[in-house]
Amino acid sequence: MQDTPVLKDIVLLGGGHSHVAVLRSFGMQSLAGVRLTLINRDIETPYSGMLPGLIAGHYTADEGHIDLIPLTRFAGARFIKDDVIGINTENQTVLLGKQPPIPYDLLSINVGSTPHTHQIAGLKNNVIPVKPINQFLNHWEKLQERISAQRDHIKIGIVGGGVGGVELTLAIDHFIKSLTLKPDNIDLTLITASEEILDDQTKNVARRFRQLLIERGVEIRTSTEVTEVRPRKIISGDLELEFDEILWVTQAGAPAWLKTTGLKLDANGFILTNNHLQSLSNNNIFAVGDVAAMANHPRPKAGVFAVRQAPVLTKNLRISLLGGKLLAYRPQRHFLKLISTGDKSAIATRGKWSMEGRWIWNWKNWIDTHFIDKYKTLPKMQTDKNSVRLGINTKLLKSADTHLSEESMRCGGCSAKVGSDVLSAALKDLPLTDRNDVVIGLDHPDDAALVSVPNGKLSVLSIDAFRPMVSDPYLFGRITANHCLGDLYAMGAEPQSAMAIVTLPLWPENKLVNELRQMLLGALQTLNAEGVSLVGGHTSEGSETTLGFSVTGLIDKDKKLLRKASVQPGDCLILTKALGTGTLLAAHMRAEAKGRWISAAVNSMLTSNYKAGAIIQSHNASACTDITGFGLAGHLLEMLKNSNDTAAINMDELPPIEGAIDTLNLGIVSTLHPQNERFSKQIEISDEALSHTTFPLLFDPQTSGGLLGTIPAEQADSCLADLIAQGYESSRIIGTVIQSESEQKITLRT
Ligand SMILES: Cc1cc2nc3c(=O)[nH]c(=O)nc-3n(C[C@H](O)[C@H](O)[C@H](O)COP(=O)(O)OP(=O)(O)OC[C@H]3O[C@@H](n4cnc5c(N)ncnc54)[C@H](O)[C@@H]3O)c2cc1C
Repeated sequence: MQDTPVLKDIVLLGGGHSHVAVLRSFGMQSLAGVRLTLINRDIETPYSGMLPGLIAGHYTADEGHIDLIPLTRFAGARFIKDDVIGINTENQTVLLGKQPPIPYDLLSINVGSTPHTHQIAGLKNNVIPVKPINQFLNHWEKLQERISAQRDHIKIGIVGGGVGGVELTLAIDHFIKSLTLKPDNIDLTLITASEEILDDQTKNVARRFRQLLIERGVEIRTSTEVTEVRPRKIISGDLELEFDEILWVTQAGAPAWLKTTGLKLDANGFILTNNHLQSLSNNNIFAVGDVAAMANHPRPKAGVFAVRQAPVLTKNLRISLLGGKLLAYRPQRHFLKLISTGDKSAIATRGKWSMEGRWIWNWKNWIDTHFIDKYKTLPKMQTDKNSVRLGINTKLLKSADTHLSEESMRCGGCSAKVGSDVLSAALKDLPLTDRNDVVIGLDHPDDAALVSVPNGKLSVLSIDAFRPMVSDPYLFGRITANHCLGDLYAMGAEPQSAMAIVTLPLWPENKLVNELRQMLLGALQTLNAEGVSLVGGHTSEGSETTLGFSVTGLIDKDKKLLRKASVQPGDCLILTKALGTGTLLAAHMRAEAKGRWISAAVNSMLTSNYKAGAIIQSHNASACTDITGFGLAGHLLEMLKNSNDTAAINMDELPPIEGAIDTLNLGIVSTLHPQNERFSKQIEISDEALSHTTFPLLFDPQTSGGLLGTIPAEQADSCLADLIAQGYESSRIIGTVIQSESEQKITLRT
């Protein structure tokens, strides 16, 4: 049974407080025929309620963030890591900073806000805004180190006397005072344009916070409107204040790119919405959280609204596709605020009522950790693909079924080729590399491509294909192309041309065009960067998406070919990339891998073997291969197959990708891993080696893995140094080749 086709795309911009709830809800109950895509600039989204606690040192970064990679995986959603820079409402696409536009049928915006800049001169380069929070946290990490080192006197100015600024100041103060060697050379100054701090709170609350700040030695400068910022200097009229660090926590401002979208905005640039959370100008666009301004219910910006809007947004997204009456959301006028005082105490305030105490912080802590836990501890994933249909008898499911039954009558053979309309739309204006040795390529297509092999050269050929290992088709294209070129680099060849082999599922044409185009544009980013010309391909229909490339390369006839089975005894074995993509991608499938582990695996899979191949060759390698599906053990055995040599591997030197040992310890392995374990018959395994943490890495199948070269011992160190200098930081000398008649071709040393 094939998957339900994608009929509608819901695209979520920003992993804000509402969208994480939408994703969780769709993970619990998906909608047949509907695909969710989250676009966010980071793989983790911070939970604002815990930000002051994170600064004060009460929480770790992990505790204060929601990991969007397992969450989107759980939701069955695509995740695209990029910056949204615009929306084209006419052709319904989202414009991204680095990747091609993403089409939508229904759009929801939850990108939050950034501190207001009030067009102040010099602000851009001279202050650290509190948002984007992750950027702020990176800066805070460096500042923390500076404070802890206690070398120099540091004057920190915090601009913004609202709740955010006051909480942040008290949190920084707490961090400073909690250091074992309490520094007395850090000065904090809170600066605000208003006559009093917290002028939107009751007088009692404002007074109490003023008292707390004074008790803690913070200087307060009220009625100080910043008119200009220079390097390490704040200007307010005639007043000049010098600081080593200027932190900017003024009231929320709208993202500037919204102005170009044509969406109806309020006077401050936020998206105006109706009671159903729909844009006033575009009813297929929803907006929630800080970025939205409800026309009928203006409210201050606070995370609590984004949280409360989530259930209504989730239902309205479903209703918009299935039909029915949209729900209305009415935000409460007074809401409970729990404002922390930095030292694990807090003040609760609602309307005119307020109360202070440690128990209030404990209560806030319970609310915050309870909220975030919902997204950290996800229910076990359903592995039955048909589960998406359970209990859902929807209009979309019916149309998906109709689509499928029509599609099931489709022909095989040549009739299974994807239609020319889809192809020509997907291939239109692709940015292709022009090479002199490509006589007929995709720019003037014919029955076949024609590529010349210059005199004195040989043509090197290889092929590989995959199912998607990541949900972003553009990224999938980049990784697949990179993997396919690996064989050429292992042989010491210069890549020349590529032919795509694509299978696309039975989806509506417009969805197919975009899927194919995204994959090809991703692949072209890799191919073009390496001077490879995409000269043709074949696209057919099938039960699921696959992408592969047949690649050709050139090599000098006289040049020594780097074969895999020409190892020499005494050589050192150098591996150029860390191991673990198999187990990590398997864990990702189950939503059990941390986002940063998958990010590390993706970075490794995107690293080209181009320079590594050249470095290995320039150090007189006797043999080389690339590590792919058979894992390190399988490919090393291929190298040793016809020789009288064995390899001694130093288990401590096997480099794991971050998280790979964790997922292996959980018993999570790729489906190919058990087959690869059969290679262990040819390995001498001691009890120590068997229990070594890196042992399972030997059998882990790699996607776009590194090169394994055998280098004369006297050149191994310089080869390794060159590899590391060129960015192959995980490179290691993992063992040596030894002359031996032993039947066991690999010995493991611990
Ligand atoms: C110091 C401080 C403390 C605060 N404490 C509290 C509190 O205790 N309680 C409370 O209710 N509120 C608090 N707030 C306010 C709170 O931060 C916001 O109201 C809340 O975060 C808004 O939530 P949101 O869901 O709209 O967006 P956010 O939580 O800001 O989420 C937006 C997401 O979208 C992503 N994003 C943004 N722009 C783009 C783009 N162009 N492309 C791709 N991705 C993008 C961001 O990376 C982020 O992951 C505090 C604010 C500050 C500064």
